[in-house]
Amino acid sequence: MPASLKLRPRMQRLLSPAVAQAQLIGIVAWLAVLLINPLEVFGFYAAVCTLTLLVVYRLHRAVVNFFMWRALGVVYIVVLSVGFAYVIRSNAELRILALPLTVTLVISSSILFVSVQDYLFSALLIWWVMWAVIETGLPGGLEMYLLIFCVSSVLLGFNLNFSYLKNLRSVLLVESEFRELAETDYLTSILNRRAFMESFEKLIETGQSGHFMMLDIDSFKLKNDQFGHDIGDKILCAMAACLKSTKGSHSFGRIGGEEFGVLVVGDDPDVASEFALCLLQAIRCSVAPPHHYTCSAGMARFSAGADLSTVLKCADRNLYAAKRNGKDCVYLDGEPLRSRLPVPIKPARTYED
Ligand code: GH3
Ligand code: MG
Ligand code: MG
Repeated sequence: MPASLKLRPRMQRLLSPAVAQAQLIGIVAWLAVLLINPLEVFGFYAAVCTLTLLVVYRLHRAVVNFFMWRALGVVYIVVLSVGFAYVIRSNAELRILALPLTVTLVISSSILFVSVQDYLFSALLIWWVMWAVIETGLPGGLEMYLLIFCVSSVLLGFNLNFSYLKNLRSVLLVESEFRELAETDYLTSILNRRAFMESFEKLIETGQSGHFMMLDIDSFKLKNDQFGHDIGDKILCAMAACLKSTKGSHSFGRIGGEEFGVLVVGDDPDVASEFALCLLQAIRCSVAPPHHYTCSAGMARFSAGADLSTVLKCADRNLYAAKRNGKDCVYLDGEPLRSRLPVPIKPARTYED
Protein backbone atom coordinates (compact mmCIF):
# COMPACT_ATOMS: atom_id res chain seq x y z
CA MET A 1 0.00 0.00 0.00
CA PRO A 2 1.43 3.46 -0.89
CA ALA A 3 2.58 5.47 2.15
CA SER A 4 0.07 8.27 1.46
CA LEU A 5 -2.82 5.78 1.66
CA LYS A 6 -1.52 4.40 4.94
CA LEU A 7 -1.50 7.94 6.37
CA ARG A 8 -5.18 8.59 5.63
CA PRO A 9 -6.74 7.18 8.82
CA ARG A 10 -4.11 8.95 10.89
CA MET A 11 -4.72 12.27 9.14
CA GLN A 12 -8.45 11.81 9.68
CA ARG A 13 -7.94 11.09 13.39
CA LEU A 14 -5.56 14.01 13.79
CA LEU A 15 -7.63 16.59 11.94
CA SER A 16 -11.08 15.52 13.11
CA PRO A 17 -11.09 17.62 16.32
CA ALA A 18 -9.94 20.80 14.51
CA VAL A 19 -12.43 20.23 11.69
CA ALA A 20 -15.24 19.65 14.22
CA GLN A 21 -14.35 22.90 16.03
CA ALA A 22 -14.29 24.85 12.76
CA GLN A 23 -17.68 23.38 11.82
CA LEU A 24 -19.07 24.27 15.23
CA ILE A 25 -17.94 27.88 14.76
CA GLY A 26 -19.78 27.87 11.41
CA ILE A 27 -22.96 26.54 13.08
CA VAL A 28 -22.75 29.13 15.89
CA ALA A 29 -22.31 31.92 13.30
CA TRP A 30 -25.27 30.54 11.35
CA LEU A 31 -27.49 30.47 14.47
CA ALA A 32 -26.35 33.98 15.44
CA VAL A 33 -27.33 35.27 11.99
CA LEU A 34 -30.74 33.66 12.34
CA LEU A 35 -31.24 35.06 15.85
CA ILE A 36 -30.59 38.64 14.71
CA ASN A 37 -33.79 38.35 12.72
CA PRO A 38 -35.97 35.95 14.78
CA LEU A 39 -38.50 35.57 11.98
CA GLU A 40 -35.87 33.62 10.07
CA VAL A 41 -35.64 31.04 12.85
CA PHE A 42 -39.09 29.83 12.01
CA GLY A 43 -38.64 29.86 8.26
CA PHE A 44 -38.93 26.40 6.74
CA TYR A 45 -35.67 26.57 4.76
CA ALA A 46 -33.78 27.95 7.74
CA ALA A 47 -35.07 25.12 9.90
CA VAL A 48 -34.13 22.49 7.28
CA CYS A 49 -30.68 24.04 6.91
CA THR A 50 -30.11 24.15 10.67
CA LEU A 51 -31.22 20.56 11.09
CA THR A 52 -29.08 19.36 8.15
CA LEU A 53 -26.04 21.21 9.50
CA LEU A 54 -26.46 19.62 12.94
CA VAL A 55 -26.97 16.14 11.50
CA VAL A 56 -23.97 16.47 9.15
CA TYR A 57 -21.83 17.83 12.01
CA ARG A 58 -22.82 14.90 14.25
CA LEU A 59 -22.27 12.30 11.51
CA HIS A 60 -18.96 13.84 10.54
CA ARG A 61 -17.71 13.38 14.11
CA ALA A 62 -18.86 9.76 14.27
CA VAL A 63 -18.07 8.39 10.81
CA VAL A 64 -15.01 6.14 10.45
CA ASN A 65 -14.99 5.53 6.70
CA PHE A 66 -12.47 7.90 5.11
CA PHE A 67 -14.45 8.60 1.91
CA MET A 68 -17.65 9.17 3.85
CA TRP A 69 -15.75 11.57 6.13
CA ARG A 70 -14.48 13.54 3.12
CA ALA A 71 -17.92 13.62 1.49
CA LEU A 72 -19.57 14.89 4.69
CA GLY A 73 -16.99 17.69 4.86
CA VAL A 74 -18.08 18.86 1.41
CA VAL A 75 -21.79 18.50 2.28
CA TYR A 76 -21.31 20.60 5.43
CA ILE A 77 -19.73 23.57 3.67
CA VAL A 78 -22.26 23.47 0.81
CA VAL A 79 -25.24 23.39 3.22
CA LEU A 80 -23.76 26.28 5.20
CA SER A 81 -23.29 28.31 2.00
CA VAL A 82 -26.81 27.52 0.80
CA GLY A 83 -28.13 28.63 4.20
CA PHE A 84 -26.27 31.94 4.15
CA ALA A 85 -27.27 32.52 0.51
CA TYR A 86 -30.91 31.98 1.52
CA VAL A 87 -30.71 34.44 4.45
CA ILE A 88 -28.97 37.10 2.33
CA ARG A 89 -31.43 36.65 -0.52
CA SER A 90 -34.36 37.24 1.84
CA ASN A 91 -32.75 40.35 3.48
CA ALA A 92 -31.76 42.85 0.80
CA GLU A 93 -29.72 44.98 3.25
CA LEU A 94 -27.43 42.02 3.95
CA ARG A 95 -26.30 41.76 0.30
CA ILE A 96 -23.35 44.04 0.96
CA LEU A 97 -21.99 41.32 3.26
CA ALA A 98 -22.27 38.54 0.67
CA LEU A 99 -18.84 39.09 -0.89
CA PRO A 100 -16.79 39.20 2.36
CA LEU A 101 -18.79 36.23 3.65
CA THR A 102 -18.03 34.18 0.52
CA VAL A 103 -14.32 35.00 0.66
CA THR A 104 -14.27 34.09 4.39
CA LEU A 105 -16.01 30.78 3.70
CA VAL A 106 -13.69 29.90 0.82
CA ILE A 107 -10.47 30.71 2.68
CA SER A 108 -11.45 29.29 6.07
CA SER A 109 -12.70 26.04 4.56
CA SER A 110 -9.14 25.35 3.39
CA ILE A 111 -8.39 23.75 6.76
CA LEU A 112 -11.44 21.49 6.60
CA PHE A 113 -10.18 19.23 3.84
CA VAL A 114 -7.49 16.54 3.72
CA SER A 115 -7.43 16.53 -0.06
CA VAL A 116 -6.72 19.45 -2.39
CA GLN A 117 -9.34 18.18 -4.86
CA ASP A 118 -12.02 18.23 -2.13
CA TYR A 119 -11.04 21.79 -1.24
CA LEU A 120 -11.13 23.04 -4.83
CA PHE A 121 -14.45 21.31 -5.46
CA SER A 122 -15.98 22.84 -2.32
CA ALA A 123 -14.54 26.31 -2.98
CA LEU A 124 -16.04 26.32 -6.47
CA LEU A 125 -19.38 25.12 -5.10
CA ILE A 126 -19.35 27.93 -2.50
CA TRP A 127 -18.76 30.49 -5.24
CA TRP A 128 -21.39 28.90 -7.45
CA VAL A 129 -23.99 29.08 -4.62
CA MET A 130 -23.08 32.65 -3.57
CA TRP A 131 -22.37 34.20 -7.00
CA ALA A 132 -25.97 35.07 -7.89
CA VAL A 133 -26.59 36.60 -4.42
CA ILE A 134 -23.45 38.76 -4.64
CA GLU A 135 -24.07 39.78 -8.23
CA THR A 136 -27.60 41.08 -7.55
CA GLY A 137 -26.25 43.27 -4.75
CA LEU A 138 -23.56 44.89 -6.94
CA PRO A 139 -23.94 47.71 -9.46
CA GLY A 140 -23.80 46.31 -13.02
CA GLY A 141 -20.53 45.82 -14.93
CA LEU A 142 -18.49 44.76 -11.93
CA GLU A 143 -18.42 41.05 -12.80
CA MET A 144 -14.72 41.19 -13.71
CA TYR A 145 -13.90 42.44 -10.20
CA LEU A 146 -16.00 39.66 -8.77
CA LEU A 147 -14.12 37.15 -10.88
CA ILE A 148 -10.83 38.50 -9.50
CA PHE A 149 -12.14 38.01 -5.95
CA CYS A 150 -13.28 34.51 -6.86
CA VAL A 151 -9.99 33.43 -8.44
CA SER A 152 -7.75 35.02 -5.81
CA SER A 153 -9.73 33.64 -2.83
CA VAL A 154 -9.71 30.12 -4.30
CA LEU A 155 -5.98 30.38 -5.07
CA LEU A 156 -5.25 31.67 -1.57
CA GLY A 157 -7.24 28.83 0.00
CA PHE A 158 -5.61 26.33 -2.36
CA ASN A 159 -2.18 27.56 -1.35
CA LEU A 160 -3.03 27.26 2.36
CA ASN A 161 -4.62 23.82 1.94
CA PHE A 162 -1.83 22.48 -0.26
CA SER A 163 1.05 23.66 1.94
CA TYR A 164 -0.46 22.59 5.25
CA LEU A 165 -1.37 19.16 3.84
CA LYS A 166 2.10 18.76 2.34
CA ASN A 167 3.79 19.61 5.65
CA LEU A 168 1.43 17.41 7.64
CA ARG A 169 2.02 14.47 5.27
CA SER A 170 5.80 14.74 5.45
CA VAL A 171 5.75 14.98 9.28
CA LEU A 172 3.45 11.95 9.51
CA LEU A 173 5.56 10.03 7.00
CA VAL A 174 8.72 10.58 9.03
CA GLU A 175 6.81 9.70 12.20
CA SER A 176 5.49 6.44 10.73
CA GLU A 177 8.98 5.52 9.49
CA PHE A 178 10.38 6.06 12.98
CA ARG A 179 7.49 4.16 14.52
CA GLU A 180 8.15 1.20 12.19
CA LEU A 181 11.87 1.30 12.99
CA ALA A 182 11.10 1.43 16.72
CA GLU A 183 8.82 -1.61 16.47
CA THR A 184 10.84 -3.80 14.12
CA ASP A 185 13.71 -6.11 14.90
CA TYR A 186 16.61 -4.95 12.75
CA LEU A 187 17.88 -8.42 11.80
CA THR A 188 14.70 -10.43 11.23
CA SER A 189 12.26 -7.63 10.30
CA ILE A 190 9.59 -9.02 12.63
CA LEU A 191 8.24 -7.27 15.76
CA ASN A 192 10.84 -6.53 18.41
CA ARG A 193 10.32 -7.29 22.09
CA ARG A 194 8.66 -3.99 22.95
CA ALA A 195 6.19 -4.07 20.05
CA PHE A 196 5.39 -7.75 20.66
CA MET A 197 4.74 -7.17 24.36
CA GLU A 198 2.54 -4.20 23.49
CA SER A 199 0.48 -6.36 21.17
CA PHE A 200 0.24 -8.99 23.94
CA GLU A 201 -0.92 -6.36 26.46
CA LYS A 202 -3.48 -5.05 23.98
CA LEU A 203 -4.83 -8.56 23.43
CA ILE A 204 -5.28 -9.10 27.17
CA GLU A 205 -6.82 -5.64 27.61
CA THR A 206 -9.36 -6.28 24.86
CA GLY A 207 -10.56 -9.35 26.75
CA GLN A 208 -9.14 -12.04 24.46
CA SER A 209 -7.78 -15.34 25.65
CA GLY A 210 -5.38 -17.81 24.08
CA HIS A 211 -1.90 -19.29 24.36
CA PHE A 212 1.51 -17.67 24.56
CA MET A 213 4.51 -19.57 23.26
CA MET A 214 8.09 -18.80 24.22
CA LEU A 215 10.57 -20.32 21.77
CA ASP A 216 14.32 -20.63 22.17
CA ILE A 217 16.70 -21.99 19.52
CA ASP A 218 18.54 -25.07 20.80
CA SER A 219 22.30 -24.95 21.29
CA PHE A 220 22.54 -21.75 19.30
CA LYS A 221 25.83 -20.74 20.82
CA LEU A 222 27.28 -23.94 19.37
CA LYS A 223 25.98 -23.03 15.87
CA ASN A 224 27.63 -19.63 16.16
CA ASP A 225 30.87 -21.19 17.36
CA GLN A 226 30.85 -23.87 14.65
CA PHE A 227 29.74 -21.85 11.60
CA GLY A 228 30.23 -18.21 12.54
CA HIS A 229 27.86 -15.38 13.47
CA ASP A 230 26.72 -14.73 9.89
CA ILE A 231 25.28 -18.26 9.65
CA GLY A 232 23.82 -17.74 13.13
CA ASP A 233 22.13 -14.59 11.81
CA LYS A 234 20.75 -16.49 8.81
CA ILE A 235 19.32 -19.12 11.16
CA LEU A 236 17.58 -16.35 13.12
CA CYS A 237 16.11 -15.05 9.84
CA ALA A 238 15.04 -18.61 8.86
CA MET A 239 13.32 -18.89 12.23
CA ALA A 240 11.48 -15.60 11.61
CA ALA A 241 10.44 -16.85 8.16
CA CYS A 242 8.95 -19.98 9.79
CA LEU A 243 6.97 -17.79 12.20
CA LYS A 244 5.66 -15.81 9.22
CA SER A 245 4.76 -18.82 7.10
CA THR A 246 3.13 -20.98 9.78
CA LYS A 247 -0.54 -20.04 9.70
CA GLY A 248 -2.57 -19.66 12.88
CA SER A 249 -0.75 -17.11 14.99
CA HIS A 250 -2.12 -13.72 16.03
CA SER A 251 1.31 -12.10 16.31
CA PHE A 252 4.94 -13.00 16.87
CA GLY A 253 8.20 -11.25 17.60
CA ARG A 254 11.83 -11.62 18.57
CA ILE A 255 11.90 -11.12 22.32
CA GLY A 256 15.59 -11.81 22.96
CA GLY A 257 18.82 -12.88 21.23
CA GLU A 258 17.58 -16.31 20.01
CA GLU A 259 14.22 -16.19 21.76
CA PHE A 260 10.89 -15.60 20.08
CA GLY A 261 7.32 -15.14 21.29
CA VAL A 262 4.11 -16.22 19.55
CA LEU A 263 0.48 -15.54 20.43
CA VAL A 264 -2.31 -17.91 19.42
CA VAL A 265 -5.81 -16.61 20.09
CA GLY A 266 -8.65 -18.92 21.12
CA ASP A 267 -9.50 -21.18 24.03
CA ASP A 268 -9.09 -24.52 22.26
CA PRO A 269 -5.83 -26.06 23.58
CA ASP A 270 -5.79 -28.57 20.69
CA VAL A 271 -5.61 -25.78 18.10
CA ALA A 272 -2.73 -24.11 19.96
CA SER A 273 -0.94 -27.46 20.39
CA GLU A 274 -1.23 -28.38 16.71
CA PHE A 275 0.02 -24.93 15.78
CA ALA A 276 3.03 -25.29 18.11
CA LEU A 277 3.95 -28.73 16.79
CA CYS A 278 3.55 -27.61 13.17
CA LEU A 279 5.79 -24.63 13.87
CA LEU A 280 8.49 -26.79 15.44
CA GLN A 281 8.34 -29.14 12.45
CA ALA A 282 8.63 -26.20 10.01
CA ILE A 283 11.65 -24.96 12.00
CA ARG A 284 13.27 -28.43 11.96
CA CYS A 285 12.99 -28.58 8.16
CA SER A 286 13.72 -24.95 7.34
CA VAL A 287 17.50 -25.25 6.95
CA ALA A 288 19.37 -28.26 5.51
CA PRO A 289 22.33 -29.89 7.30
CA PRO A 290 24.91 -28.97 8.41
CA HIS A 291 23.27 -25.67 9.47
CA HIS A 292 19.96 -27.22 10.49
CA TYR A 293 18.65 -26.25 13.90
CA THR A 294 15.83 -27.02 16.30
CA CYS A 295 13.86 -25.08 18.82
CA SER A 296 12.28 -25.69 22.21
CA ALA A 297 9.09 -24.04 23.37
CA GLY A 298 7.16 -23.41 26.55
CA MET A 299 3.48 -22.58 26.37
CA ALA A 300 1.15 -20.80 28.78
CA ARG A 301 -2.56 -20.01 28.68
CA PHE A 302 -3.78 -16.47 29.13
CA SER A 303 -7.25 -15.06 29.55
CA ALA A 304 -8.87 -11.61 29.75
CA GLY A 305 -7.15 -9.43 32.35
CA ALA A 306 -4.32 -11.93 32.96
CA ASP A 307 -1.10 -10.72 34.56
CA LEU A 308 1.51 -10.55 31.79
CA SER A 309 4.50 -11.37 33.98
CA THR A 310 2.72 -14.43 35.45
CA VAL A 311 2.03 -15.73 31.91
CA LEU A 312 5.67 -15.11 30.90
CA LYS A 313 6.97 -16.90 34.00
CA CYS A 314 4.69 -19.88 33.32
CA ALA A 315 5.85 -20.13 29.68
CA ASP A 316 9.46 -19.78 30.84
CA ARG A 317 9.01 -22.68 33.30
CA ASN A 318 7.63 -24.86 30.51
CA LEU A 319 10.46 -23.81 28.20
CA TYR A 320 12.94 -24.79 30.90
CA ALA A 321 11.21 -28.19 31.18
CA ALA A 322 11.48 -28.64 27.39
CA LYS A 323 15.21 -27.81 27.50
CA ARG A 324 15.82 -30.15 30.43
CA ASN A 325 13.97 -33.01 28.76
CA GLY A 326 15.88 -33.29 25.52
CA LYS A 327 15.05 -30.01 23.66
CA ASP A 328 13.23 -29.83 20.26
CA CYS A 329 9.82 -30.15 21.94
CA VAL A 330 6.95 -28.09 23.38
CA TYR A 331 5.76 -28.17 26.98
CA LEU A 332 2.44 -27.06 28.42
CA ASP A 333 1.50 -27.51 32.10
CA GLY A 334 4.79 -29.36 32.66
CA GLU A 335 3.91 -32.02 30.05
CA PRO A 336 5.25 -32.48 26.49
CA LEU A 337 2.79 -31.95 23.64
CA ARG A 338 2.32 -34.79 21.17
CA SER A 339 0.72 -34.46 17.76
CA ARG A 340 -2.40 -36.38 16.81
CA LEU A 341 -2.08 -35.35 13.15
CA PRO A 342 0.73 -35.99 10.64
CA VAL A 343 2.86 -32.84 10.44
CA PRO A 344 3.71 -31.52 6.92
CA ILE A 345 7.36 -31.54 5.86
CA LYS A 346 8.72 -28.69 3.74
CA PRO A 347 11.99 -28.72 1.73
CA ALA A 348 14.92 -27.29 3.64
CA ARG A 349 17.02 -24.32 2.53
CA THR A 350 20.83 -24.50 2.40
CA TYR A 351 23.41 -21.84 3.23
CA GLU A 352 26.81 -21.49 1.57
CA ASP A 353 29.66 -21.23 4.06
P1 GH3 B 1 20.09 -23.60 24.82
O1 GH3 B 1 19.83 -24.75 23.94
O2 GH3 B 1 20.10 -23.96 26.24
O3 GH3 B 1 19.18 -22.47 24.55
O4 GH3 B 1 21.56 -23.11 24.49
P2 GH3 B 1 21.99 -21.88 23.63
O5 GH3 B 1 23.39 -22.07 23.18
O6 GH3 B 1 21.01 -21.63 22.54
O7 GH3 B 1 21.84 -20.70 24.66
P3 GH3 B 1 22.85 -19.64 25.17
O8 GH3 B 1 22.06 -18.67 26.00
O9 GH3 B 1 24.03 -20.32 25.83
O10 GH3 B 1 23.39 -18.92 23.88
C1 GH3 B 1 22.63 -18.03 23.14
C2 GH3 B 1 23.51 -17.49 22.05
O11 GH3 B 1 22.78 -16.69 21.14
C3 GH3 B 1 24.63 -16.65 22.57
C4 GH3 B 1 24.68 -15.46 21.64
O12 GH3 B 1 25.95 -15.26 21.09
C5 GH3 B 1 23.74 -15.85 20.54
N1 GH3 B 1 23.10 -14.69 19.94
C6 GH3 B 1 22.27 -13.79 20.55
N2 GH3 B 1 21.86 -12.87 19.67
C7 GH3 B 1 22.44 -13.17 18.47
C8 GH3 B 1 22.41 -12.58 17.18
O13 GH3 B 1 21.75 -11.55 16.93
N3 GH3 B 1 23.12 -13.16 16.18
C9 GH3 B 1 23.85 -14.29 16.40
N4 GH3 B 1 24.50 -14.85 15.39
N5 GH3 B 1 23.91 -14.86 17.63
C10 GH3 B 1 23.22 -14.31 18.64
MG1 MG C 1 18.15 -18.23 25.20
MG1 MG D 1 19.01 -21.20 23.04
